[in-house]
Formats: sequence, C-alpha cells, structure tokens
Amino acid sequence: MLTIIKNAEVYSPEYLGKKDLIIGAEKILYITDSITTHPQLNVKILDLEGDYLVPGFIDSHVHIIGGGGEGGYKTRTPEITLSSIVKAGITSLVGILGTDNATRTMSNLIAKAKALKDEGISCYTYTGSYHLPLKTLTNRIIDDIVFIEEIIGVGEVAISDHRGSQPTLEELIRITADARVGGILSKKAGIVNVHVGKGKKLIQPLLDVINNSDLPITQFLPTHMNKDEESIKACKEFINLGGRIDFTTSSSNNLDENDISKPSKALKVLMDEGVNLENISFSSDGQGSMPHFDEKGNYLGLTVANVNTLYQEVKDSILVEQIPMEIALKVVTSNPATFLKLETKGRIKEGYDADLVILDKNSLNIKSVIAKGKLMKKDGKIITRGTFE
Ligand code: ZN
Repeated sequence: MLTIIKNAEVYSPEYLGKKDLIIGAEKILYITDSITTHPQLNVKILDLEGDYLVPGFIDSHVHIIGGGGEGGYKTRTPEITLSSIVKAGITSLVGILGTDNATRTMSNLIAKAKALKDEGISCYTYTGSYHLPLKTLTNRIIDDIVFIEEIIGVGEVAISDHRGSQPTLEELIRITADARVGGILSKKAGIVNVHVGKGKKLIQPLLDVINNSDLPITQFLPTHMNKDEESIKACKEFINLGGRIDFTTSSSNNLDENDISKPSKALKVLMDEGVNLENISFSSDGQGSMPHFDEKGNYLGLTVANVNTLYQEVKDSILVEQIPMEIALKVVTSNPATFLKLETKGRIKEGYDADLVILDKNSLNIKSVIAKGKLMKKDGKIITRGTFE
C-alpha cells in the first residue's frame, strides 16, 4: 500500500521546506509541494502537521552481537535488540567485532546482520576485528567483500592501542589494498574502519600508509577520534588532506558540554576552524563495554554503550552548539552514506530508500521512525519489535 506523508518540514538533510511525499515498495516515490488524494484511492495518510522529516540515521560502528570481555567472560556485553536501534532513529547500521575475536565470530556477526535485516532495517558488516592477521569468513578479505552481501569493508582494525596487534606498515598496506580491490570488484565501499586507541602514534600509521603506497586517504575511516585537543588537531590535518574521520558518541556520556571530547563540541570547534564538515561522521560504538572509574582511577564497573547517544549528540550540536540543523544532520545521514557507499541511503530524495525519522518541531525529539517504508515507531511508541522482544 502507498503512504502519503503530508505537511512535512523536510531536511533532506538540506532544507527543502514544506513538502508532501509518496512512499511505497520500500522507496520514496514522489516529493512535491502538495498532494490531493482521491477518495477511491486506498492510501494511508500520515499528517506531520509541520513536524520535521529527516533521513533515517546511519550508525557505522555497532557491536551488534555484543563486545567487551576485557574484564573476563562475565564482562561480555549482550547482543543488540531491534527496538533499541529503532528507538534511536537508526535505520541502517554496520555491525562489527572488537577486541574479542575468540568467543565472537564472523559467522555469528553475519547471522545477526541477516536477522536484523529480516526484522526490517538495513544492516551491513565489516570483516575482521582488532587483530592481524584478520580472521575473515572465507580466509580472504577480497572474497569476503565480493561474495558476502553484508560485508562492505574491513574493521575495526586497532592501531595505537595496547589491545591491538601492533600492525606493521606492510600489514596495514596489504589489508587496505585488499579492502580496496574487494570494494572495486563489488561496487562497495571497501573501506577500512580503524579503531584509533590512546597510543602515542595516534593516526600516524595511516599517514604512513598513504605516504608509502598508492592507496587514497579515503580508504580509511578512523574512529574514536574525539579524545582530546591533540586528536582534534590530528582530525583537522587528516581532513585537510582529504581524509574522513568519525567521532564516537557513547564515550561522551555525562561529559561537560565544554569538553572537547564531546562530539558536538568537537564538531563546533572544527566548524569554527573552517574544516570541511562533509568529511566527518558520528557513530555510537553501541553495545560495546564502557568501563567506569572513580576520580582516583579505581575501577567501578561496566555498562553497555547505547546507540541512543548517536542522535543525542546531533541534538546537542543543534541546540547547545547552535550548529545549523542541515549541517549537524549530515554527520549521521548523507556523510556516512557517502563514506560507506550506500547509494540509496542518507537522503530524502525520489528513488531513495524510505528510511525516515520524524522529529518533534519544538523539542527535536524523535517521534516516529520509518524503515524501508514500514512504520517502526509511532508517536514515541515502538510498534515493530524484534522476534524475541
Ligand atoms: Zn573501537
């Protein structure tokens, strides 16, 4: 059945003004100023009465089968549920493995991605995890990307982190080259999502790859780059060279609004410095483990990172940092769609997937979510739940 969305204030993410849309067969079919329906036409009408309509959010870094485990077996975090994703306005995500590639496997990751797709949203994965040599599904990066529908790149490979395998320049060049070729052969992104730890070299290993090979800088998407003044400076340099970077939203929970490691603050700092914001995305690191310490650094316990921090940081960018809405929205819509080469995602445009979020015009809170044309959340209530929820 067709659905007509009426009186929507559309951010595509660019501002389009007040529009009516027809959606059907999982797609945005038609966008115009006003649509009049005929009584004999069997269509569903959704009148937004001036609320904002924005593209469904894309989260490029989520531990969909759980992560963690750095404090022993009982600290392995649980897998994600459909409702927590939908509640956060996320309609597309990339599932990843992390530190643990012993008790967590690629086959399990792919199965979970397929389950989430069956439940109504779009899900992709990377192949590999923190460590080299990469544990892939087919024993070859190129084959994984070319033949496994869900796999769109490599990640999260750890650099500058004591938990990573301290990859050599040659190793990094090889996996990046393979990811690129896999991407070229399958028309996928073929990017390498790089976990950048707190180690002293930061993203220098990536610059070494660029300087010592023919690989383009856009082959990388380094994440967790919102750490401190030094990492934000490194972001600026990396972007000015044409690179793209990603900020992690969950690590900034409870941070003071002036802390530069808060993604909304870091985005504002880079905007003020004239950095190209089209080269920045946010991701949640959702379902990863978050260790907590007291002021003396004593371990207090673990919680699970929440995907709802993704939009929370976008909202803070708009309401606290006063970044224009159409710019702030890009970091979770059109920018990641470009980085991940998801050609029908991240925009409100005819022919694109009907992945949509409705925001309350006053509070900017998420009211309703549509994934592939299907209403998943309506007026604040989840209406489509996962199989076992
Ligand atoms: Zn990571």
